[in-house]
Amino acid sequence: MYDNILVPTDGSDTAEVAVAHAIDLAEKYDATVHALYVIDVDATSYSLGTEQVDRLRQGHLDEMPEVKASADAATGHVAEAAAERGISVEEHVRAGQPARAIRKFVDENEIGLVVMGSHGRSGLSRALLGSVAEKVLRETQVPVLVVDEHGED
Ligand code: ATP
Ligand code: MN
Repeated sequence: MYDNILVPTDGSDTAEVAVAHAIDLAEKYDATVHALYVIDVDATSYSLGTEQVDRLRQGHLDEMPEVKASADAATGHVAEAAAERGISVEEHVRAGQPARAIRKFVDENEIGLVVMGSHGRSGLSRALLGSVAEKVLRETQVPVLVVDEHGED
């Protein structure tokens, strides 16, 4: 049913719960897990100049070690957890607007299922869903499994 499962992660605790579900499903379906971290170029936390944003969009991360470290930590955690279970896993990093980049990744990589958190790092829990989760649900053509932070078992 699913050959390629995408777990978009911003490194948040809720995304970690999604990772556990993604790995479990990958095991059942003998699928590859794709861990995707999107560097949110509009996020003020990075406070990047336009030149840096351009470089990021072109995939140059080496000159921005802090940004690269966040990305590597998030996807690396997925890779480790999958490897422990003997599941094939790929790490991917993109720069852009998270929901748009996730959608594009789905279209370009034959993703059959997306597993993601209901919330992420900014975690304003008064909203039912975070904005990235909501946009992906609205605009993605494949099934999306949304888990919340209490959803591990
Ligand atoms: P908001 O960002 O709207 O203020 P939030 O941070 O609580 O709220 P979302 O950003 O929608 O919620 O996060 C929901 C899920 O979307 C996360 O658990 C994660 O799976 C995915 N996600 C969010 N941001 C990224 C990102 N930059 N890269 C990859 N996946 C992401
Ligand atoms: Mn967010």
